[in-house]
This record gives sequence, structure tokens and C-alpha cells, in this order.
Amino acid sequence: MANTLRELSLTLGLKNYGAYYYGDYQGYVVTLTEKLTNIILSIAITFPNDDVKADSIRGFVENYKRTYNLVDYTINHSSISMTINDSANARDKLLQLLNKTVGMLEYNKVPGNDVCYFCEKKLQDNYVKAQIEDAFVNMHDKCVDELSRIAEKERNDYIAGKKNYGRGFIGALIGGLIGTIPWIIVDMLGFIVGILGALIGYAAKFGYEKLGGKPRKGKAWILGIVVLFCIIFAQFASTAITLVMETSATGYSLGDLITTTAELIAYSSSLRRSMIINIVIGIVFAGASLAKTFTAVILEGSSGFVNVKKLTGIM
Ligand SMILES: [Zn+2]
Repeated sequence: MANTLRELSLTLGLKNYGAYYYGDYQGYVVTLTEKLTNIILSIAITFPNDDVKADSIRGFVENYKRTYNLVDYTINHSSISMTINDSANARDKLLQLLNKTVGMLEYNKVPGNDVCYFCEKKLQDNYVKAQIEDAFVNMHDKCVDELSRIAEKERNDYIAGKKNYGRGFIGALIGGLIGTIPWIIVDMLGFIVGILGALIGYAAKFGYEKLGGKPRKGKAWILGIVVLFCIIFAQFASTAITLVMETSATGYSLGDLITTTAELIAYSSSLRRSMIINIVIGIVFAGASLAKTFTAVILEGSSGFVNVKKLTGIM
């Protein structure tokens, strides 16, 4: 199985460069590489600006995902990359996938190895190979420099950019605490309350964004910590208020109330159990309401930029 990559490269007449095999195939530059137990097939293209064509290409690749059981795929301005698990029939699947994709690209008249994907002009003899993510592409020498410069600037702007974590934290806390009000009321009325964790999560996220917190990785941490705190706070507060109402005690100072509530929780295992159940369910629902936010910031943090590298000395 480990030979899939080499055998296929031999069949296609690809050249070797480091961990990559690359070469021309029916007018397109094709790159193959391995990552763990997967093989990545990339085809360099100049992605069409035409919406109908673009949708058609995306539709085709999405369809391959099911037919060929792709682990993953990415489509960007310079390439289509498809990841397939290196199983017994991976070689045949990759060949089919390659032929179908190339046929589809030809049909859509998508330029391949004779056009610089960056400036979209025809290449004469004045081009070099560059690596963009996992794909080798043909580009003008100066276009690689220009793209590298843009990528570097974007990266620097991003690093230097304001994150507004402080404001975001305050916003999340205010939002989250407001979001605890329904929890406290519903819990005091004796209803199951965990689902309202989603509301706390949503309110904290709303507050974070309202006060200008940026969608960086810290956002996930801030929301996670604030929401956890708010859920525990909500459960503790409803227990404390219930205690005051049931004993119709007056003249409690806040300090006394906290101490008495804590003592009650320590004393009653059934109270403790129901509080923990509420909190756990609350966390699950809050997590569900924030799942999209979490994945968005993680993805952005790890692959927000183009990685471009000039490959000197190869054609
Ligand atoms: Zn160019």
C-alpha cells in the first residue's frame, strides 16, 4: 500500500521533488504527495471568475467526495486538492479521479499549465514553478514575488491587528450574565433548565462581538471560560435565591448568603446531584450553540493565509 504514490507517479511519468511528485498531465500540472495514511492529489488551475462555471466545478468535486470517499478537498484560486485514504484500490481510484477531473476542467475550458494563475496571462518561456499549499503551479517569476509579498503583508497585518480581547471579554461577561436571568427564573420555578445553556452561550457570543472582540483563537477561550462561569453562577444564584425565599430569611448579608448556600450544597447530596446535572446539560447546550464559532476561529487561525514558495531549479 505504501507504494501507491510511487507506482502512480511512475504510471503518470511524474518527477520527484522532496516529498512531492509533479508533472504535466493533459495540459494541467498535477502534484501527488502523502500525508500520514492519505494521498493528496492536486491539480493546478486558474479558477474561473464565471459564477456558473465556478459552481459547476464545486458541484463536481463535492460529488467526487461521495463517489470516491474523499477524506477532504479544497478548491482555491490556484488548485483543486483532493485527499484520499491510501487503501488497496487507491491507485485506481486516483487515476479515475484524475481523468474525470481533467476532463471536467477541459470541458469547462479552465486554463491549466499554459497560463499564470496569478495574472491570468499566457506563459511563454518566462515562468517558474511555485508551490502553493500542496500544489505545484506554473507562474511568472515576478508574479510569485508579488504573491509572496501580498501573503507576507496579510500575515503581518493579521499578527499586528487588534484583537480587542479585553473589550470582547467584558462584552461576553455582560451578555453571559444577562443570559443567566432566564436560567435563574426557570430553575427557581422547578423546571429542567439545562437547555438554557444555549441561551447563555449565544448571549455571551453576542456580547463579545457587540463590543468589538475579534474572531481570533482567543475568542474561543474567552467564550468558553465566560460561559462556564456564567452557567455555574446561574445555578448557584438560583439555589441561593430559592434558599432565601424558602426560609423567608431576612437580613442576610451577601457574604452570609454565599456561605449558607455553600454549606447547604455541601450538606445535601441530592441538591448537589441536581445542580451538577443542570450544569453539565447546560455546558452541552452552550457548546452546541457555540460549535460553529469554535470551528471558525480554529480554522481561521491555522489556514487563513496562502503559503507560497518559489521552487527554483525545476521545471
Ligand atoms: Zn503572471
